[in-house]
Amino acid sequence: MKLATFDYKGETRIGVVTDKGIVDLAAAAPSLPRDMVALISSDKALAEARAASAKGDAIPLADVHLRAPVPFPGKVLAIGLNYRDHVEESGQPMPEHQVWFNKQHNCITGPYDDVALPAVSSLLDYEAEMCFVIGKRCKHVPKERAHEVIAGYFVGNDVSVRDWQLRTNTWQIGKSFDTHGPIGPWIVTPDEVGDPHALAIKCWVNGELRQNSNTKHLIFNCFDQIAHLSQAFTLDPGDVIFTGTSGGVGAAMKPMQFLKAGDVVRVEVEKLGYIENRVVPEKAETIIG
Ligand code: ZN
Repeated sequence: MKLATFDYKGETRIGVVTDKGIVDLAAAAPSLPRDMVALISSDKALAEARAASAKGDAIPLADVHLRAPVPFPGKVLAIGLNYRDHVEESGQPMPEHQVWFNKQHNCITGPYDDVALPAVSSLLDYEAEMCFVIGKRCKHVPKERAHEVIAGYFVGNDVSVRDWQLRTNTWQIGKSFDTHGPIGPWIVTPDEVGDPHALAIKCWVNGELRQNSNTKHLIFNCFDQIAHLSQAFTLDPGDVIFTGTSGGVGAAMKPMQFLKAGDVVRVEVEKLGYIENRVVPEKAETIIG
């Protein structure tokens, strides 16, 4: 099942994507939650959504604006240095432990929305990543059971401001600018994905292939990641995890190639679809209140 958050006729809704379009769950199954996190955290609600989507009317995809499938994650966690070729191109030693950082949740944006070129930097870069979302509150999850807590997978771009990232050891601010976490186009549930560690993952900038790898090359796979994180803190439904990027980022090219206004970045993961975002200059207006 594919689960989307979308705007239609001035309202934000959740729905199931089918061959015909999107079945609006508010219309097809009015008793279901209207919030994606509430939906994915309930097996009963998911079963009802699946049944309703088989008989509901579909809205054409062209008539809706897709939002990030989880618009307001509680946590957005990302692992660095998790593909061998990216570790090598970064000039870093192979990590002994998982290297985690936070992206602030305000960075989350829709699969086809614009990404801001910051007023304060020109070192804007892309990172094609597979992402997943937690569906069950969990702690101390053994690796063998980690699959039970994943509600689904989607495509992400861990957009990075390299100078701000590398000024500090935590990377946090350079990974967290507004709009620097486009995700989508929708959540694909695990039954449709099969093995999440056998998916082609690619990134193009203006049609030029920059990254071309496969999730089988993850150093720490999704289940290792959940086992590790949940030893420290509780993971909650709606938490979003970025699973790392392969070689081919702009900062590692010779000469380095950073994103410019007007560039279009497309990230595609086999079975999950693609996201595509245009780079636009940030307005940098003061906003208070
Ligand atoms: Zn990343």
